[in-house]
Amino acid sequence: MGCKKCETQAVYITLNHEKLCKNCFINYFERKVYKTVTKYKMIEHGDKIGVGLSGGKDSTTCLYLLQKFFENKGNTIMAIAVDEGIHDYRDKTLDEARNFCKEHDIPLVITSYKKEFGFTLDEYLKKHKINPCSVCGVLRRYLLNKSARRLKVDKLATGHNLDDEAQSILMNQIKGNISLSAKLGPITGILMHEKFIPRIKPLYFMTEKETTVYSKVKQFNVSYNVCPNFGENLRESIGQMLNDLESKFTGTKQGIVNSFLDILPSLRKHYQHKKIGICSECGEPAAKDICRTCMLLEKK
Ligand code: SF4
Ligand code: ZN
Repeated sequence: MGCKKCETQAVYITLNHEKLCKNCFINYFERKVYKTVTKYKMIEHGDKIGVGLSGGKDSTTCLYLLQKFFENKGNTIMAIAVDEGIHDYRDKTLDEARNFCKEHDIPLVITSYKKEFGFTLDEYLKKHKINPCSVCGVLRRYLLNKSARRLKVDKLATGHNLDDEAQSILMNQIKGNISLSAKLGPITGILMHEKFIPRIKPLYFMTEKETTVYSKVKQFNVSYNVCPNFGENLRESIGQMLNDLESKFTGTKQGIVNSFLDILPSLRKHYQHKKIGICSECGEPAAKDICRTCMLLEKK
């Protein structure tokens, strides 16, 4: 099976059924990410970009490409990692994050639940019967935003890919949380707030499979391990269903995200009256009087 462009052994077939060899795939992937960043004006000249780094394939690829594209164009790129305190998992991925940043000469700041909240995720879960990911997600987003602000970062980049976005769109639909979908998109959020660092998703149009192939052909030393808390939940079921549909009907995930992008401007307009206030406990941005992090902390 030869590459469409140079007849070398193909490593990937695109959604348009183009067979690509290693080098042509790297070009295809990098061009698509660069186009996404420029099309949505994610990064401006002089921006300091913080990349939320977990040590996994998506955030590492995102960090690598932003450094490659923008470091020599007047931008500063750094990595921010959160140590939730997940035994035998996060410690390993953080080692990989440290090694990667050292090898590529990228500044890395690691913040942790233990330091900021006084407990690890493992400790919290021992006391409370609660979906681990719902706690983890809220606290991680909170810490990333706070750390990015402390570090005077202009934009916070995450490794979210097309699969993540398609899953989130369907999850919100199924749970009747359509107002949450208004916050999705390549640049998240509806309203600006001085305490909220805008989030960008450079890998927005890249599938999970493409990111995996890219990180493998680039031989990134990243973790493909799955968090021990990752279990049967709605996101996982939707992910499986989408993979199944994609294998039968190529382009399913892309179709969901493209249709969503068509209605996103109307959705944001509809919900723009919602105000972002300040949490009365911690002073961080919050949709209600007390933010979700402080509510979780009250339980500790
Ligand atoms: Fe956190 Fe859940 Fe991801 Fe594990 S799978 S890191 S608990 S969000
Ligand atoms: Zn709060």
